[in-house]
Amino acid sequence: MVKRLILILGDQLNDQVAALREADKDSDVVVMAEVSDEASYVRHHPKKIAFLFAAMRKFATHLRTAGWTVHYTELDDTENSGSLTGELLRRAEQTGAHSVVVTEPGEWRLIRAFDDLPLPVTQLTDDRFISSRAEFATWADGRKQLRMEYFYRDMRRKTGLLMEGDQPERGKWNFDHDNRKAAPDDVTHDGPPQFEPDDITQTVLDLVTSRFDNHFGDLHPFWFATDRDQALQALNQFITDALPLFGDYQDAMLNENRFLYHAVIGQYLNAGLLLPLEVCQAAEDAYKDGHAPINAVEGFIRQIIGWREYMRGIYFLEGPDYPQRNQLDHQRALPDLYWGAETKMHCLSKAVEQTQAEAYAHHIQRLMVTGNFALIAGLNPQEVADWYLAVYADAYEWVEAPNVIGMSQFADGGIVGSKPYVSSGNYIDKMSNYCKSCHYKVKTKIGDGACPFNLLYWSFLNRHRALFEKNPRMAQMYRTWDRMANDKRETLLSEADDFLTKMSAGERV
Ligand SMILES: Cc1cc2nc3c(=O)[nH]c(=O)nc-3n(C[C@H](O)[C@H](O)[C@H](O)COP(=O)(O)OP(=O)(O)OC[C@H]3O[C@@H](n4cnc5c(N)ncnc54)[C@H](O)[C@@H]3O)c2cc1C
Ligand code: SF4
Repeated sequence: MVKRLILILGDQLNDQVAALREADKDSDVVVMAEVSDEASYVRHHPKKIAFLFAAMRKFATHLRTAGWTVHYTELDDTENSGSLTGELLRRAEQTGAHSVVVTEPGEWRLIRAFDDLPLPVTQLTDDRFISSRAEFATWADGRKQLRMEYFYRDMRRKTGLLMEGDQPERGKWNFDHDNRKAAPDDVTHDGPPQFEPDDITQTVLDLVTSRFDNHFGDLHPFWFATDRDQALQALNQFITDALPLFGDYQDAMLNENRFLYHAVIGQYLNAGLLLPLEVCQAAEDAYKDGHAPINAVEGFIRQIIGWREYMRGIYFLEGPDYPQRNQLDHQRALPDLYWGAETKMHCLSKAVEQTQAEAYAHHIQRLMVTGNFALIAGLNPQEVADWYLAVYADAYEWVEAPNVIGMSQFADGGIVGSKPYVSSGNYIDKMSNYCKSCHYKVKTKIGDGACPFNLLYWSFLNRHRALFEKNPRMAQMYRTWDRMANDKRETLLSEADDFLTKMSAGERV
């Protein structure tokens, strides 16, 4: 007699997830399902869909080998109901199970769907995260500002990572002043390891070709790790080859190199193939062995126990309406250039091109190229967020929404960031070699060939003056704007308007 259904979601592919730890091999049945609802609520990149289905199939095989009974629904199964709740009801009827256990999903939409299921569903805390939802809420309670840096220090104390007793290693919490160097002349790292698709992955690639061919993104060459062993190999290679220079070139961008010294493990962490603590411990070991310097290791660990945990905390703290916020009332439609239409802006063209090819762009490309442009051009944050959710292999709402709605688009009114991440072309020029190959001239502020980031930056500041001029971190920018000659300001604003009108009319800009 089957007691319970143990639902394993596509981003919970680890033996350590709470629902599996709680389950009984003899009387419970594991349920996993590839369903069209999940694969197409936004038009996910084909590489992302293939990665998840292949990793799910391989994890199901792994569970069966370990003695679990697994009821796995493939996308093309004729009885597939198309939704996770539909599959749970169907499997309950088939097996006679009367209840469901699941590790809490990372999305309000699914949490609510399971709450409404006409079967008792126990949603267990997802303790792969270092901070639970309740712990984050306690940390946030009564604070005027939810600054990541203070949360991060608590996570350092909690995990003991890079701590000497109750003091931070080398007496400092943050070594960022040693980071953020401009793009290196030569890059000594070849990027993440590329895995040859095995039989299971190949079958999934065929399925994705036949079902999702019309989604934006290149399926081939497909090189992602699709099981835990491969993901661990990717982690080890990063620690050995790239971590030592991770900090130095964390913010750099190069035409010739898509990955620089980044880990490219977000998709593995978020799907459960890697666990956050083991990743941080591997980095800390590299520091203790003298293999990687403190600025690289501290910077890397901060991304994971700081930013990643903080973003999840914000998502759940702020509630289900968070992704719908639009504090700046930005309404312009997402232009086709985000879907690969030609643009003369070389930085955007490169960021979108590599997103299309790899379902990957690193943080600064997401924040300071595609995100910065969307913000200064006044694009609708929900359309922008749907784009990010669709195109990146590591994108799930719990992490994507606070990064896009909060950090990148300031659509939450300043919960995540104390000021909007906006910049003119200068920043991109400093951190990359994009501008050298661009149709536009980064040093030109107005007139022929002026870089659109320069025009839009000032028009953004002017548009939102009432909101930002009192922000101490932005006062200097308003002083510079006010010092500009009147006619220059007028020309600049009118050129910015012309540019946006042309872009929205579908002209190549
Ligand atoms: C607009 C925007 C959208 C983003 N959307 C996502 C998303 O959907 N999913 C996602 O996982 N990350 C997202 N990020 C954060 C970050 O860009 C990615 O985590 C990172 O680029 C993944 O590549 P990597 O593994 O090479 O990261 P590395 O630069 O090597 O960093 C290591 C790890 O740190 C974690 N990390 C770093 N920054 C963040 C952050 N801001 N939030 C959460 N985790 C972080 C990730 O797990 C990452 O794998 C977004 C950032 C921005 C600015
Ligand atoms: S000149 Fe402007 S548009 Fe061109 S690459 Fe540089 S920042 Fe981007």
